[in-house]
Amino acid sequence: MNATDADALRDWTVGADRFLVHRCAHGHVWASGAGPCPQCAAGAVTSFPSAGRGTVIACTLLHHAPDGDWSPLLPYALLCVRLDEGAQVLGHSPITHRVGSRVKARFAKVTHRPIPIFEQKADAA
Ligand SMILES: [Zn+2]
Repeated sequence: MNATDADALRDWTVGADRFLVHRCAHGHVWASGAGPCPQCAAGAVTSFPSAGRGTVIACTLLHHAPDGDWSPLLPYALLCVRLDEGAQVLGHSPITHRVGSRVKARFAKVTHRPIPIFEQKADAA
């Protein structure tokens, strides 16, 4: 694996303001790095951009930042969201959200790359 591949795997947004969803021939979906399916190891994968809409499946409020880049944002919420395309992703929000809430992602550069920020959307259905 060269440095470019390693960077692409770490940067699941692939540097763009969107989630890139991957699907194998067996219907498994994920959004963290291209490559073989993490569930069945199938190598034939199709990739497509997500609309960024989904449902909150977990949410926690953080009071301690991992580093100085995040400290000005405290407190902020960390969310696990099931995108409408089926993949689960992590993102942030300035507020907490109830499990089951509909949200939509926008992207902001908090560090050196786009970070998903989820906002509650009553019309995100
Ligand atoms: Zn699979």
